[in-house]
Amino acid sequence: MATLTKKDQQWLREKFGPRANFDPTERILYGHDIAAMPKLIKPLVGQTVPHAVVQPENEEELQELVAWASSKKIPLVPRGKGSSGYGGIIPTRKGIVIDFYRMKEVLEVDGAAQTVTVQPGITWEQLDKKINPRGLSVRLYPTSYPSSSVGGWLAQGGTGIGSYQYGWFSDNVISARIVLPSGEAKEVSGKDLELVSDAEGITGIISQVKLRVQKIEDLGLTAIACPDARKLTHVFQEFVAREMPIWSVVFINPRMAEMKNRAPVRMHLGHPAEHKVILPAAYITLLAYRKADEAKIVPYLADILGRSPSMSGKAVSI
Ligand SMILES: Cc1cc2nc3c(=O)[nH]c(=O)nc-3n(C[C@H](O)[C@H](O)[C@H](O)COP(=O)(O)OP(=O)(O)OC[C@H]3O[C@@H](n4cnc5c(N)ncnc54)[C@H](O)[C@@H]3O)c2cc1C
Repeated sequence: MATLTKKDQQWLREKFGPRANFDPTERILYGHDIAAMPKLIKPLVGQTVPHAVVQPENEEELQELVAWASSKKIPLVPRGKGSSGYGGIIPTRKGIVIDFYRMKEVLEVDGAAQTVTVQPGITWEQLDKKINPRGLSVRLYPTSYPSSSVGGWLAQGGTGIGSYQYGWFSDNVISARIVLPSGEAKEVSGKDLELVSDAEGITGIISQVKLRVQKIEDLGLTAIACPDARKLTHVFQEFVAREMPIWSVVFINPRMAEMKNRAPVRMHLGHPAEHKVILPAAYITLLAYRKADEAKIVPYLADILGRSPSMSGKAVSI
């Protein structure tokens, strides 16, 4: 797309005021995501600075913007926090980036049903902080928790902390509202969510998400060190076979353990901000489970580790 006409810019200014941004320097920031584009691909993609960045505040504004841009064939690119790193938010055809920074409200909390309804731009950390005082917490989240949005995870798809129990994020979504190219807003749920999940905004722009959350409960943590990947697989098979009530598992390989050992201690204002722990050169798996379930997990770990073929793993409760 060549550029926005003066009339187009005027329309955007009238509708969105300072929330329509044409600043050349700021627009550069919206021309890329968190990752560096591979050198071989960059020349093929070319210039990616959008013509404008617009921050709608609600679904009605989003509808107006989408209907107007569609009628003028102006490309639109929805952007959460730009943390996916797969290029989905890069405006390869320029046009307008829709930044969901201002759509970050919690619209409804149902404590009894353990569900929340949110605008798409809210981050996982913001959502958690809002619902924690109600005794609720998110069921699962990406490890980019402080800097990625709920809408972005539904559009990108994925698993994260809590997925051992709860699976893909889309499995935990009850419904979503999307704005179609015509500007019409539609609610999708059940099987139709497949049309939105992992679609990177191509089938519609997400304006609202209703998702399942959980009660806050004390967590227990136990780390296991397995000497090789085959044995780690065996241990996981045992967890599944025994239906152990584990909430989350995260593991690192021996190379990562070695790199962590070599990393300097994180400092804050001249003081160490962490306690340095030297890790064994092993596949280190961190299990997180509800404290109430501890007796169903921890006493069996020594047995599972001992059963694994020529296993010399260790379990340490933290
Ligand atoms: C340190 C780090 C850790 C990470 N950990 C995980 C992890 O544990 N699990 C995991 O799955 N991913 C992980 N990621 C990848 C990334 O954080 C997730 O994919 C995240 O959900 C993206 O959210 P976002 O708000 O940054 O989306 P963006 O990167 O802004 O957007 C992602 C895609 O969704 C589209 N989109 C965004 N908002 C909307 C909307 N409202 N409507 C329609 N389409 C939209 C965009 O156009 C783009 O195609 C990690 C990334 C980093 C940098």
